[in-house]
Amino acid sequence: MIYIISACLAGFNTRYDGKNSFSEVFEELVRRGKAIPFCPEQAGGLPTPREPSEIIGKDGFEVIEGKARVLTRDGKDVTEQFLKGARETLKLANITGAEAAILKSKSPSCGCKKIYDGSFRGVLKDGLGVTAAYLKSHGIEVIDSDDYLERH
Ligand code: SF4
Repeated sequence: MIYIISACLAGFNTRYDGKNSFSEVFEELVRRGKAIPFCPEQAGGLPTPREPSEIIGKDGFEVIEGKARVLTRDGKDVTEQFLKGARETLKLANITGAEAAILKSKSPSCGCKKIYDGSFRGVLKDGLGVTAAYLKSHGIEVIDSDDYLERH
């Protein structure tokens, strides 16, 4: 089994704040050739660092359906970049044969269980980010990074 993995988990400074979410567990997966690091937001054309974004609406599934948008904290619409990043991630999964992805908890792209509620006040709610929802809707298993760490 080979995984796609959120690049920030393996130590790449891809986060909105120019930092990472490194864990040795995830770096080791990459080192052993078990996981391929990728950042959907960068692949979608967004700069690093960048304004933080949240889904305005229910979740990533609604964004895919055109019923919700992704906005930065200062109100810029980045929905198209988020969708492009999701499509590029699926492309990588298809090229590599990855059937699962380990994705960073709580991200508006990568979150698999919880995302921020669109208020930019640090409030979480149930839901998937845009890339997580897109991968899941195309048959790729999505695994929350915190869940993975608890089990390994
Ligand atoms: S989009 Fe995903 S991979 Fe990129 S920095 Fe955010 S959580 Fe990490």
